[in-house]
Amino acid sequence: MPMQAAIVAEDIRKAYGPTQAVDGVSLTVARGEFFGILGPNGAGKTTTLEIVEGLRRPDSGRVEVLGQPPTPRTRGMLRRIGVQIQGLTFFERLTAREQIRTFAALYKLPASRADEVLEMLGLTDKADTLTERLSGGQAQRLSIGCAIVHAPELLFLDEPTAGLDPQARRNLWDVLRGLNERDGCTVVLTTHYMDEAEELCHRVAIMDTGRVLRADPPATLIRDLGGVTRISMPAAALAAEQARKLFPEAVVDAEEETPTTGTLTIRTTEPAAVLAELAARDALRGLSVRGTTLEDVFLSLTGREYRA
Ligand code: ATP
Repeated sequence: MPMQAAIVAEDIRKAYGPTQAVDGVSLTVARGEFFGILGPNGAGKTTTLEIVEGLRRPDSGRVEVLGQPPTPRTRGMLRRIGVQIQGLTFFERLTAREQIRTFAALYKLPASRADEVLEMLGLTDKADTLTERLSGGQAQRLSIGCAIVHAPELLFLDEPTAGLDPQARRNLWDVLRGLNERDGCTVVLTTHYMDEAEELCHRVAIMDTGRVLRADPPATLIRDLGGVTRISMPAAALAAEQARKLFPEAVVDAEEETPTTGTLTIRTTEPAAVLAELAARDALRGLSVRGTTLEDVFLSLTGREYRA
């Protein structure tokens, strides 16, 4: 990993009235790193990002972005960073192409660069569509295009794949990975999606209630959890109460609409013993077995199920 830091944040705090949105966050992101901030609604991800981007001032703490404080926002700095924010509004009555060409012009870039980015994001066939007529996912991709048109060194994305269909989501992953790997762009994104963080990020900060609980490579987070296996089965196969009695070491979650529908999940470090017991009870029908995921890490760090 490159030694030079793209971002240094030390003990940043921000309260909105009685809500402590950010409660002492310290982070370092290296240049060239793909860094994720993962956490449920209200965890403080957006506020943290806005402070680092220089869009919001912290109540206390210190931030440095590409070797400088993020505020005041200088022209030089704006040329070097790209920011995609949630719910971006576009200039009115412009087509997708005009929109992104306007952004390109602000950076004195040729129209051809704007068209290249439209192509990269799979929006060429929507180039002549007014932005207010784009679907949610298309508008989302256009907002990312506007953030990357000037090939920034450091890119901030706030929930970039929210609302995208699975294919658009994977295409966008490829675009982001390309920016990071080929162009050396440092990427910081917030996400609700565990698979996204696991797939893209070199390191992931898990945030909850304004704090960073851990910041490590996904593989490290998963390995440290020590081989938890997740065994899921139809809830009708075994009652949650009974499962808790049979497997006192395991974490048992029941997602039941009624006791006979839904899924029962057993998280255990002793899958062989659990499976043997389930086999003895003839409860293997419809069963699936998975290794540890970031979701399990989240559960173990916060003590509660992940709810996006
Ligand atoms: P989400 O996943 O929903 O985007 P988040 O992790 O990005 O959530 P933030 O948007 O940073 O979380 O919000 C953190 C907390 O601060 C929440 O409790 C939120 O209600 C509160 N908050 C955020 N912005 C404001 C604001 N402008 N005024 C008052 N409270 C705010």
